[in-house]
Amino acid sequence: MKAELIFSGSELLQGRVLNTHAQYLGRRLFQSDIEVGWHVTVGDNLAHLKQAVRQALERADLVLITGGLGPTTDDLTKDAVAEVLGLQMVLDEKSLADIKDLFAKRGMSMPESNTRQAIFPVGATILPNKRGTAPGALIEKANKIIALLPGPPHEMSAMFEDTLLPMLLERLVSGTAIRHKVFKLSGISESAVQDLLKDLDGQVNPGITYLAKPGEIQVRVAAHAASAEQAEKMVAELSEKVQSQLEEHIYGYDGEAVEQVVARLLLQKGMFISTAESCTGGLIGARLTDLPGSSGYFMGGVIAYSNELKQSILGVAPELLEQHGAVSEETAIAMAEGVRKLTGTSLGLAVTGIAGPDGATTTKPRGLVYIALAAADGTTCRKFQFPGERFAVRRGTVNAALSMVNQYLKVR
Ligand code: ATP
Ligand code: MG
Repeated sequence: MKAELIFSGSELLQGRVLNTHAQYLGRRLFQSDIEVGWHVTVGDNLAHLKQAVRQALERADLVLITGGLGPTTDDLTKDAVAEVLGLQMVLDEKSLADIKDLFAKRGMSMPESNTRQAIFPVGATILPNKRGTAPGALIEKANKIIALLPGPPHEMSAMFEDTLLPMLLERLVSGTAIRHKVFKLSGISESAVQDLLKDLDGQVNPGITYLAKPGEIQVRVAAHAASAEQAEKMVAELSEKVQSQLEEHIYGYDGEAVEQVVARLLLQKGMFISTAESCTGGLIGARLTDLPGSSGYFMGGVIAYSNELKQSILGVAPELLEQHGAVSEETAIAMAEGVRKLTGTSLGLAVTGIAGPDGATTTKPRGLVYIALAAADGTTCRKFQFPGERFAVRRGTVNAALSMVNQYLKVR
């Protein structure tokens, strides 16, 4: 079984966009024991696309094509595949309804051109797109599998992980059941995770794979076996060991986001939370209000970026800022207690840190963040050192802050 990856998009050929799909899909397929034999990049040109598809079908069993599923006339992937395979294009009513729905949710009516995104080669299995309008497709013909994925990286990776990869594994390892469990971690680097798991790592079935995202590491435990029960048992056994090694860094599992867990716990306990954010500039408040019904547990927040606001709104003492600095345990605690008092909530959550690239000193490096949680039974503060760039530090801070709230609520 050999795979060929075709990346469509003239911007990739012209060096305007770096082909990150090549690395992402290459790595994930390799980790999944699917051998990639070829990478081909093609411009938005129907003849060239058809030529690439034809060539791939001659030598590969699995052909994965990214990009060109959009509504514009330069989006030609589906046409190219249909023409090479001699398949008619048909409208998928369900996809059309989903796309219309998505536009309706955004308060718009669907432009006629988007109908193109609901038209597929006949017989294709539609792969839903949770993050955009263009569904993907899986086409099986004459022992070959062709999969079409959207171009935008966050849409492509979500569709690949959630839908396509499990389908491919089911088909490739037929007669076997595959089960997996995903651990989501924050406040720890990928290498530190690997270190903690070094005694469990290295085996293939059940096996452990890693995925590093900005501010978040995912550890995936997967197993395949003759029966679903057996695969589940293997995953459960290894997961238990992984869980005990990583316990304090875990903030969620599988598809569940940490804010969902936190929201559920706050609602259950009838508690409200408020936030005082410095280096995250409101990102924690944004995550807490991503969910509908957030007014049932989130009171609001203060973005206290400057020292002036930390003092005037949150009541952080000037001497304290002077003595310890804005990025310190003392300031984080004062901010958390300040916002809790200001809003009258059960919990006050505060973050202060150095997102970089500027602002770092020898004693306070980039990525240094203090997170404090004030509650009726006292205030706790944790110090973090996040790896990566500004974006990763800020994301890591949000995940770590929310997981601190989760850890607090779990045992109350
Ligand atoms: P859209 O509906 O947005 O048109 P699409 O499925 O038609 O999606 P493209 O138009 O090919 O996809 O690409 C959409 C975006 O994704 C573009 O910004 C493009 O640069 C980016 N993109 C496409 N392929 C890759 C790739 N291989 N690596 C990184 N970015 C990519
Ligand atoms: Mg496009």
